Amino acid sequence: MKKKIRNTIFLISFFALAIIAYSLVSSNNAKQYLEEERKKVENIILELERENGDNLLIQKKQIENQFVNLVYETETGRHISYFVNATNGNLLELEDIIKQEQINNFKEKVKELTTLKYPKFISDVLNSGTCTLAYEIRDTDLLIYFSDFQINPIPKENLTLQIDYNEIKDFVNFPVHLNEEYENENRYHYDSSKKTIALTFDDGPNGQKTKKLVELLNQNKMHATFFMVGNRMSSEKNTVLEVLKNGNEIGSHSYNHQNLTRLKKEELLEEENLTNQIYKDITGNDLKLLRPPYGNINSLMKENLNYVFINWNIDTEDWRYRNVDHIFNEVITKVKDGDIILMHDLYDTTIEAVEKLLPELYVNGYQVVTITELANLKGKNLEYGQVYRSIK
Ligand code: ZN
Repeated sequence: MKKKIRNTIFLISFFALAIIAYSLVSSNNAKQYLEEERKKVENIILELERENGDNLLIQKKQIENQFVNLVYETETGRHISYFVNATNGNLLELEDIIKQEQINNFKEKVKELTTLKYPKFISDVLNSGTCTLAYEIRDTDLLIYFSDFQINPIPKENLTLQIDYNEIKDFVNFPVHLNEEYENENRYHYDSSKKTIALTFDDGPNGQKTKKLVELLNQNKMHATFFMVGNRMSSEKNTVLEVLKNGNEIGSHSYNHQNLTRLKKEELLEEENLTNQIYKDITGNDLKLLRPPYGNINSLMKENLNYVFINWNIDTEDWRYRNVDHIFNEVITKVKDGDIILMHDLYDTTIEAVEKLLPELYVNGYQVVTITELANLKGKNLEYGQVYRSIK
C-alpha cells in the first residue's frame, strides 16, 4: 500500500517537473519568436528610412501596438506615407486602418470636407481619385496630404485636409483621442491672418448676369457686395434674394443713378428713403452701405444721409474696356490686402474676367469677401458718415 502511494507521488512529481520544463522551453521559444518579429519590424522601418534618405521625415509614430506611421516630404513637395504593422512588419494599406465596412463612408467624408474647404477648381481635382494621398495620424486629427495633381492655376500652398477624429471616429480602426469642444464642420471659414479684399459690383441687379456672378463666387468660396439701383431692385426681387441667400451683401447705389451732389437735402433724403423702402419690402432689412453714383460725395450727403459711404481704390473701368484681359490684369497687377475693387454686373466681359480672376486671386492667397466681412476680418468698425476706399 505504502509503495503504491510512493509510486503515485513519484508520478505526480514527474509530470509536474515535465510541465515546468516544457513551459520554460516554450516561453523561451515565445520570447525568441517575439524578438525575431521585433527585429523584422525594425528592419522594415530601417529599409523605408534608407529608401527615403533624401526626403524630410515629417512623422514617425507608433499607434498603440498596431502600426507605425511614417510620413515623408520629398524635395519637390510630394508627401508619402507608410503604415507598418507593429507585430509582423507587413506594410498596411488605408483599408487596414479603416474599418472595412466603413471604407466608403470614410472616403465620402474626405470628399465632403475637401469640397467644403477648397474652391471648386481645386476640390474637383482632389476628389477625382487621380491624386496621391498621404496620411499623418496625429493626436486629435488625421492630416491628409494631396500630391500629384494637375490644377490650373497652380496652387502655391500644400493642399491638405485636417480631419478631426470626431468626424471619423466610427470609421477608423485604431484608438483615437477626441477633442471634446469640437463642433462639426459645416461651413467655410475666412481667416483674419490672410490677405483679404472686397469685390463690388455696381448698377445691378441685372438678372442672369448677376446670378452668374453669384454662382462664380459660390464656386470659389467667395462673397461680394452688390451696390444696387433702387428702381431696378423693385422689378428683380428674386435676384436680390438670390444674392443675399448666398452670403453676399447689398448696398444702395441710389434710386435712379443720379449724381447725388447736385441734389438738395430734401431730394437726397427722398432718393435714399425710396431705395431703402424698396429693399426693406423685399428683405425686411435696412440698407447700411451707400456707393454714390460716380463716387461723388459732398458734405451735405455726409451730414444728412445715414449711411456708410463705400468708394474704391481699384477701378477696373470694365464699362470702358470691354476686354477680359484688361480687367483681369488691372486687378492682378495692382491688388493688395484690404483693397476695394469696382466692377459692374452689366457686361459679359466682366463676368468672363471674374471667372478667370477668382481662382487666380485664390492661388495668390487672397480671400474675397463682402465689405462688412472685410471690416470684421480687419477688426474695423464701419462708421456712418465716413468714406472708405479700402479697409486695412
Ligand atoms: Zn454706377
